[in-house]
Amino acid sequence: MEIKKPITSAASKLVLRLKILAKEKEITRRKLVVTARQLAVTAREKEITRRKLAVTAQELRRLHATLEKKVLRRTKDLEQIRSKNEAILTSIGDGLVVVDKEGRITYINKSFEEMLGWKSQEILGKSMVQVVPREDQNGIGVLFKERILTQVLAGQKFVADLTNPFYYIRKDKSRFPVSSIVAPVILNKKVVGAVEVFRDITKEKEIDKAKTEFVSLASHQLRTPLSTVNWYSEMLLTGDVGEVTIDQKKYLEEIYNGNQRMVDLVNTLLDVSRIELGTLVIELKPTDIVKLAQNVINEHKLQIIEKKIKLLPSFEDNIPLIKTDPKLLRMVIQNLLSNAIKYTPDGGRVSISLALEEEANVVLTIADTGYGIPKNQQNKIFTKLFRADNVIGRDTEGTGLGLYIAKSIVEQAGGKLWFESKENQGSTFYATLPLRKIKKH
Ligand code: ADP
Repeated sequence: MEIKKPITSAASKLVLRLKILAKEKEITRRKLVVTARQLAVTAREKEITRRKLAVTAQELRRLHATLEKKVLRRTKDLEQIRSKNEAILTSIGDGLVVVDKEGRITYINKSFEEMLGWKSQEILGKSMVQVVPREDQNGIGVLFKERILTQVLAGQKFVADLTNPFYYIRKDKSRFPVSSIVAPVILNKKVVGAVEVFRDITKEKEIDKAKTEFVSLASHQLRTPLSTVNWYSEMLLTGDVGEVTIDQKKYLEEIYNGNQRMVDLVNTLLDVSRIELGTLVIELKPTDIVKLAQNVINEHKLQIIEKKIKLLPSFEDNIPLIKTDPKLLRMVIQNLLSNAIKYTPDGGRVSISLALEEEANVVLTIADTGYGIPKNQQNKIFTKLFRADNVIGRDTEGTGLGLYIAKSIVEQAGGKLWFESKENQGSTFYATLPLRKIKKH
């Protein structure tokens, strides 16, 4: 029988320790295996990520290249549009100028350069109103505040200056007639500048002049035969060349009156052509305008009575003599008063007044309670040959020249003519006449 050797406690302790160590080693080994596996997984994932990144980078490069191409194409397109716009602006025959809020030039086109003699680089950034002075027909410079550009920049919507011809002064100080349209440039509801388009109307003015000369010539030629008809019908009517029957007299009167209307029309046409050709002879004389108005009233007495019009004259007694052409002033008063009577139904009221104004003007006011002028036609009322719809239908005769003549005369004398009117309520015409005062003797 084998006798078991006694194991010392130190040895058993050692064995135990060895066992523990072996177990720990096993655990560590397992852990290492796990870690190794995890590392393998991470490495795989890293590889996947790397590959993905490589793909993304490639895609990005591709995208970048496409984008760059697109940008290039777009830039080219924009450049083309810009050049096209530039070409359009350059090739329009009208002068074009763009200004900023302060009225400084930011763009001019080629026609502007050609018409005014300035080069773009010489005037960019400068004030349009100062670089290009404007004059009226009489060669009087238009004030800064009255320039349409100034008015548009101050908030006026749109201004067209087609009826009142004016002149632009070139770099070399010569001038040419112009018609222009100015519109504001609006951004976020604010005026940030303005665009002006203008045209040299020298040719149109020449054509207009030729037409006026023709009218003048034709009117002169018409006067002689008209005078003959007038002369002989008058002779027949008065019985100077033998008795006429009642019927014949009636017909002769028709001829005489029709001829008289034609004479009036021809004379009016001659006045218009004289105004337009600048050949109207103006003879300034000390004139008693109150007396003149009273004379005109007297000439219309018959119509006033016939139409049962209530006439209300009112003349201030401190009105001095004014230096003006009495013949022309008479035409103004005559036109305005005859209109007031003509365009007022029977039994209506017409008032005529003369008063002194503070600003050294005499103001003539002629008001009526007549048909009035339709609102939508009020802006045309001073245009040659224009007659409003509401009077054409009625039994009123007219040429549409009276107000045009009256306005031209008043403006030539340095005054203003305007009106207020409401359809079916009446009209009031005002004329101011500058007072070149002369002592009343
Ligand atoms: P005419 O009276 O010969 O037609 P005018 O040039 O004097 O020409 O007037 C032009 C137009 O203005 C007239 O046809 C008429 O439509 C309008 N008008 C002028 N004065 C008046 C008035 N007092 N009341 C109403 N309409 C008027």
